Amino acid sequence: MSSSSAAAGGAVSVPIDESIYGQELERLVQSKGVLRAKGYTLEQLSPGELEKKQRCGRCYKLYTQNPWRTDPYYYDDNYSDEDAYVAQNPDGPTAGPQSQPKPRRPSGICLYHDGEQENKVWTCCGQKIPCKGEDFHSSKAAYTNAELAERWKFFTTLTTDRNQVGPRRAIVIDCEMGVSVMGDMELISLAAIDYFTGEVLINSLVSPLVSMRHYNTQYSGISGKDMHEARKAKACFRGRNQARKALYPFIGPDTIIIGHALENDLNALRLIHPRVVDTQIVASNLASARRDAHKMLQAQEGSGGDGMAGAYTTGYQNNRGLKSLAWECLRRNIQTGGHDALEDVRATRDLLQWHLVHVVPLKASNPEAYFPIF
Ligand SMILES: [Zn+2]
Ligand SMILES: [Zn+2]
Repeated sequence: MSSSSAAAGGAVSVPIDESIYGQELERLVQSKGVLRAKGYTLEQLSPGELEKKQRCGRCYKLYTQNPWRTDPYYYDDNYSDEDAYVAQNPDGPTAGPQSQPKPRRPSGICLYHDGEQENKVWTCCGQKIPCKGEDFHSSKAAYTNAELAERWKFFTTLTTDRNQVGPRRAIVIDCEMGVSVMGDMELISLAAIDYFTGEVLINSLVSPLVSMRHYNTQYSGISGKDMHEARKAKACFRGRNQARKALYPFIGPDTIIIGHALENDLNALRLIHPRVVDTQIVASNLASARRDAHKMLQAQEGSGGDGMAGAYTTGYQNNRGLKSLAWECLRRNIQTGGHDALEDVRATRDLLQWHLVHVVPLKASNPEAYFPIF
């Protein structure tokens, strides 16, 4: 085992000196404009935004308008699932002379079952693939307006007593999400550590209070069996509200919450927090500085030059995943197999600290510095 992989996951985190890096971290707190542009929720959803969360009462797909289709509504789900794959590939890659003929999906954009699901089997057809299809979604909504408002109610970090011991200066969080039978993303795990000390504050599964279609096991590493066992042992939070409340003792309005593409985590927690450092934004800003430096070098070398400027690499890309950044900057191979929520929060913490140690001083000494690609 290499030293870099030993540093991931279960290893004890090295404390970070708050007196040196506290101020540097403050400077990276992102503006509301930047956060809003990235999809952060900064105030309660408006009636118009709530309407976009509504789902078809027949197939439970989102009622999101799509200008590229003549259909009035478009299926917009961030997570693919095997049902959707099978539905789109009725003959599938495994189809051959020996394989069973797969049932074909009906045509139309609203694909659904009109029966009930009992023990994961549809009473209408006994198949996973929807057995009914219509050209348009149902005007019947899956949620009432009151249900929608309740489901999507956000909570702003509370003002706490300045003398309260609890709130940390900065914490790093990571959440996993699964998909409910209605198609909504639901919080299924929460991990939180203190940025400076590395202390583990929370590391727990979150059992959603609604029926789940799947736990996105391939990416979350969490299975239905894991959740079942955690519930039996009473070793998980019951619903997102309980998980969010468990964070409250550690966060005040001044706490910096750090995460990678943190808008997804805060949305899943239904938390509005004013002070955020998103390592995906930090990395994108670095990529943009690299692109500028690259262009400058190219201009200096002339159009035919193939010198220092070189070719674009992943180091120039925006919105990169944690896995590729952890490898580039930390030479740490994460998310290789078994689920370890702490692995992700520690990688996020160390990625940000790498930035504070290697990039911030370089930029301070020379604003036009050419940032090395690792
Ligand atoms: Zn059916
Ligand atoms: Zn529909």
